[in-house]
Amino acid sequence: MNYDTNNIFAKILRGEIPCHKVYEDDAVLAFMDVMPQADGHTLVIPKAPSRNLLDADPATFEPLMVAVQKVALAVRRAFKAEGILIKQFNEPAAGQTVFHLHVHILPRSEGLELRPHTGKMADHAVLAQHAGLIRTALGD
Ligand code: 5GP
Repeated sequence: MNYDTNNIFAKILRGEIPCHKVYEDDAVLAFMDVMPQADGHTLVIPKAPSRNLLDADPATFEPLMVAVQKVALAVRRAFKAEGILIKQFNEPAAGQTVFHLHVHILPRSEGLELRPHTGKMADHAVLAQHAGLIRTALGD
């Protein structure tokens, strides 16, 4: 399977499409999912191109997962979550819809159901506010 350089996350990485950024370093970018399954649903992507986990250079994983932990802790703090769900899909049969490796961070609490995967587009003002909460928590 080839990597499509025009996938939506490649465009976000090139700055061609905006995103609500929460964290960036040399190796990764983290931003709000536009169709959040829960308030605070964040995506972490490596800057190195790969379609998903199956074709990624193994060197991608250390900085990616270090950032996932960092952002997950901030999401937990920002949304007072009781738990954090990490999801990662590989190929359409497994639910992948955007073909640049990404890790989902979802805050969870007892009794709060997740909304459908790729469901409803969120209000941008709300996403901006949520990104601000996570950025603040990252700075704490
Ligand atoms: P997956 O490929 O793991 O199924 O999920 C892709 C995720 O990307 C979905 O949760 C979807 O809501 C999100 N998504 C799709 N298009 C965009 C976009 O243009 N911007 C952002 N921030 N998220 C997107």
